[in-house]
Amino acid sequence: MVIKIKQPRGTLAEDIIYHANALITGFKEAIEPNRLTIQYPRELRWVPERFRGWIMLDIKKCISCFQCAWACPVNAIQMYRAPNGKFYPGIRYTECILCHFCVDACPVGALVPTPVHDIAYVDFDEVKFKPEDMSRPPEYVFDESERVIKYEIKDGKLLKIALPKDEIKKRIEELDKVIERSGGAPAAAGSST
Ligand code: SF4
Ligand code: SF4
Repeated sequence: MVIKIKQPRGTLAEDIIYHANALITGFKEAIEPNRLTIQYPRELRWVPERFRGWIMLDIKKCISCFQCAWACPVNAIQMYRAPNGKFYPGIRYTECILCHFCVDACPVGALVPTPVHDIAYVDFDEVKFKPEDMSRPPEYVFDESERVIKYEIKDGKLLKIALPKDEIKKRIEELDKVIERSGGAPAAAGSST
């Protein structure tokens, strides 16, 4: 059976109005653009609390239940067998969509969300985090930021607000707290390793 789908068409007057509106929007953007550019890496985008970033594993808490692997919608979690006979999760960040379903599914809080999202990889293998890689801070966190930028919308206008440098320090301190809670070594404040 062949199903024909008709393209919805308006009247001639409606078509003219649509096109006129599109042209007006284009002209407005050309004269007074309502868009912002972050000068990455010198500027870093501010991320809100509970931002879904890179995930740490508190291996001492993990009970090898596989719930995280089953919850993952894109099959990004691979379970690795450890010498003690237990299986621990690793995440392939080529597939991971940072939905944090795995974090929510973990019954013992062994997967700890962090706000880290600027990780550089030296080669393709590094994108696949094994359990031991997830148990310590990532090696190549990109942080050359001089300013943290926050977007705000005021009176329909998109505004770029530069937060004070202290905000960067605060973010690093917050990350250190997360890492410490997970039993890892704190990241060096302000480092770009
Ligand atoms: S964050 Fe989402 S996509 Fe990534 S490993 Fe967890 S469940 Fe899978
Ligand atoms: S990280 Fe959590 S959900 Fe995944 S195997 Fe360990 S205990 Fe289970």
